[in-house]
Amino acid sequence: MKTGSCFCESIQFELKGDDYPVANCHCTMCRRTSGAPFVTWLLVPKDDFRVTAGRPKVLKSSDHGTRTFCGDCGTPITCISSRHPERVDITLGSLTHPEQLTPTGDYYEDTRLPWVRPLDGQP
Ligand SMILES: [Zn+2]
Ligand SMILES: [Zn+2]
Repeated sequence: MKTGSCFCESIQFELKGDDYPVANCHCTMCRRTSGAPFVTWLLVPKDDFRVTAGRPKVLKSSDHGTRTFCGDCGTPITCISSRHPERVDITLGSLTHPEQLTPTGDYYEDTRLPWVRPLDGQP
């Protein structure tokens, strides 16, 4: 099992499993909603994810994407796409131990900032 929280810890969550695919997303929506050059996501089956404290705020970021974040401290927590509703993407940076997982691929390479080095391999 894995656990995570936002910066102020009012939102806490757990994941049933220990190992999930991890990828860096370079899309402009991830960039803007995080303020970071790209966002690293865990690809998690929806039933594996459970919020154990707090209520994340919901943001509809596109016609198919919904994001959640902490309304108090702003930490991005999840992204769900209606294109694959069985999956919830979780920000690697909100995990208690983000060092345990390593991204293996890049999404939206076409909008990757030129000084961010791509990973080798695909998710
Ligand atoms: Zn917070
Ligand atoms: Zn993205």
